[in-house]
Amino acid sequence: MRASTNNHSTVIIGGGWAGLSAAIHLANKNVPVTLIEAAEQPGGRARMVMFGDLPVDNGQHIALGAYRNFLEVLKIIGVDEAFVLSRLPLSLTVKGSQGTVSLTAPKLPAPLHLLLAFLKADGLSAGDKIKTMANWLRLIGTRARSDMTVTDLMHCTGQSERVTHYLWTPLCIAAMNTHPDIASARVFQRVLKDAFMRRRADSDILLPRYDMGRLFPQPAMDWLIGKGVNVMTGQRVSRIETRDNRVTGVTVGNMTIATGQLIIATNPWSCASLIEPIDSLSSLHRDISQFNYEPIATVYLKYSRAVLLNPTMQGLADSSTQWIFDRRITSHPKIVAAVISADGEHASMSKEELVQTVVNDIKANTDLQDDPIDSLVIREKRATFSATPHAETLRPNNKTALNGCWLAGDYTATGYPATLEGAIISGKAAAIQILAGNTP
Ligand SMILES: Cc1cc2nc3c(=O)[nH]c(=O)nc-3n(C[C@H](O)[C@H](O)[C@H](O)COP(=O)(O)OP(=O)(O)OC[C@H]3O[C@@H](n4cnc5c(N)ncnc54)[C@H](O)[C@@H]3O)c2cc1C
Repeated sequence: MRASTNNHSTVIIGGGWAGLSAAIHLANKNVPVTLIEAAEQPGGRARMVMFGDLPVDNGQHIALGAYRNFLEVLKIIGVDEAFVLSRLPLSLTVKGSQGTVSLTAPKLPAPLHLLLAFLKADGLSAGDKIKTMANWLRLIGTRARSDMTVTDLMHCTGQSERVTHYLWTPLCIAAMNTHPDIASARVFQRVLKDAFMRRRADSDILLPRYDMGRLFPQPAMDWLIGKGVNVMTGQRVSRIETRDNRVTGVTVGNMTIATGQLIIATNPWSCASLIEPIDSLSSLHRDISQFNYEPIATVYLKYSRAVLLNPTMQGLADSSTQWIFDRRITSHPKIVAAVISADGEHASMSKEELVQTVVNDIKANTDLQDDPIDSLVIREKRATFSATPHAETLRPNNKTALNGCWLAGDYTATGYPATLEGAIISGKAAAIQILAGNTP
């Protein structure tokens, strides 16, 4: 027999960044909340994992100064940005078979800082610099058709081949986890505008000083518990209960938790399986079942001494490895994190082959010639949805056709690619609608 609880709180399914954001915004207004997370620890796709005795992440994450909503929730829960994040002015170095391109933005108002960064960039010809500066406004200002890809946008706004190869392609793959040939031009323009057109500090790179768990999910949980939120970890919601097209509760194990307000803050595929039996959500189910996903592979390498890469973060334009990070900023001076975003030939490599490929790429592009003494490979097969023009037509709003049921998650219609900021925005948006007393 099923146990049943009476519950007047809003139930949130999922303790990833979207669910935590929704919970924080509701609890901050003293709305009772029950947060249910299937895993033992919060964080979802941005969480801590152990590498031997070192806490690292399921993937190297970076944030930007433009992540306003993330910085806002840190403030609400009383976490000092400077304590958990190292803020570096925009500086990019990308190495490839045709040399190195590097640029650093001076402390000038946006977008002057970017234009001067182009002008002073190393590794670009005078022609490339002038073309890039002259075509910058076309790049962000062209009204991209909804079916346009980033590669189409590069062609129609006259971007130079070298700048496309060394700058726009690595930035597109890093920001959207999707290759420019299939990535949505509109979403890329949104990312560029947000990072480069409003305030200089928006383009700052924010590197976590600690593992992802300590950066946000754990302090968020501590704060929520302090606020009286009922946090249930290691518990999976198996079913959403409804009556007359209204949410009445959720089933966890053999217990039904009654609620009239529900936020589904899971990944899209878990959301699809939860809503499948609900008739009024059939078109939502059809849409979110159509997402394609992109993987991210992260290879952690441990060395016997400090690696001292300079710069600490560098891009590789013509290698399997795309970005390498010296983890000394995260207090791990002997660790390198190598990132390969989106699909590619690395996906079919064995762990050993992938480690060897990354080690070879590092030796070929940096002064670090040592062999690592240990390694950890993490492949997130469905790291993010593929940010294509078609995906933009599938992304749902927070509001659903089922009364009392809301969505949050990086895949909802935030206008951003799947990012930490997108997840945080989606959770806040769902909370705001509940606070406003709106009824779906
Ligand atoms: C390797 C990697 C690197 C990345 N790098 C960056 C980066 O550098 N910068 C950036 O901004 N973004 C990056 N991202 C993207 C970012 O991590 C995600 O966009 C974000 O974490 C998604 O958060 P979410 O809350 O929407 O979803 P999720 O993190 O997927 O959270 C959903 C949660 O719901 C839980 N859940 C699912 N089903 C149930 C159920 N039935 N009952 C209870 N709980 C359930 C899951 O366990 C999970 O914790 C990266 C992602 C990966 C994987």
